[in-house]
Amino acid sequence: MKTFIIGHKSPDTDSIMSALVMANLEKNLGNTNEIIPCRLGNLNKETEYILNYFKVEAPKLIDSVKGADEVILVDHNSFLESAPDIADAKISKVVDHHRISNFQTKEPLFYMAEPIGSTCTILYELYRMNNITIDKTYAGLMLSAIISDSLLFKSPTCTPKDIKVAEELAKIADIDINTYGLEMLKAGTDLSSFSASELISIDSKEFNANGAKFQISQVNTVDIDSVLKNKSEIEMVMNNLISENGLDLFMFVITDILNCNSKAIVLGNKASVVEKAYNIAIDDNIAFLSGVVSRKKQIVPLITENI
Ligand code: MN
Ligand code: MN
Repeated sequence: MKTFIIGHKSPDTDSIMSALVMANLEKNLGNTNEIIPCRLGNLNKETEYILNYFKVEAPKLIDSVKGADEVILVDHNSFLESAPDIADAKISKVVDHHRISNFQTKEPLFYMAEPIGSTCTILYELYRMNNITIDKTYAGLMLSAIISDSLLFKSPTCTPKDIKVAEELAKIADIDINTYGLEMLKAGTDLSSFSASELISIDSKEFNANGAKFQISQVNTVDIDSVLKNKSEIEMVMNNLISENGLDLFMFVITDILNCNSKAIVLGNKASVVEKAYNIAIDDNIAFLSGVVSRKKQIVPLITENI
């Protein structure tokens, strides 16, 4: 019997770490299946940095959940974000911190969700609830996921609980949060080697609302303008995806993690939704989103409401 544990497509650090941390939790809870942490895409540079730092092997790359007797979803629930054949799988557990959408199961399941900064914060609570010891390595992986999702506690998604848990984990892992956190985030902002289409797929999510289909990709950087040097090429790739996938709106959000602002390239027949949502004017397909860093909390709800 096999248990696959998967985070979302275009996996970020939280999805990768949550799969690894959940796999260890399942073993400790006595799940006797072969437990396989998986991923639905390539590692980003930040995640690579973390796995190297703690000398941990990446989850297994898969493109289907065929062969799994049960599947555990972490850091997502939407089937749009999951394996293409997820609707046919037996989902036994979900641990997540996103809104619930495009999700249903045939059978009862374990579902734990909280509106907090990181799936790994919830996993920490599950370890504690079950009296399972967190070793140095797993503490480091969880801490990294919290730092990543909360942009070192600066994102509006970050809650006091995330900070408290991160401090606990830092003690166990014997890590200085600020020094390590900045190094880790910066490792993720080296975008120089990416082509336009790779840039767009580093962290990309698709949404449906009010009969409209929209996609929001996001990258973190310390220099927005250096990413915008490729603007025309990026726009070409975005326009191709718009016609291929019938998108009404495509936002490519470039987030400055030091100043906590974003600029977005906005394309599609519903581009004006962004102007309405933020009460701003788009100039040459660029929207300046002052103080916006969180897609989950500061972009998706506003677009969903206005589209
Ligand atoms: Mn995620
Ligand atoms: Mn997350």
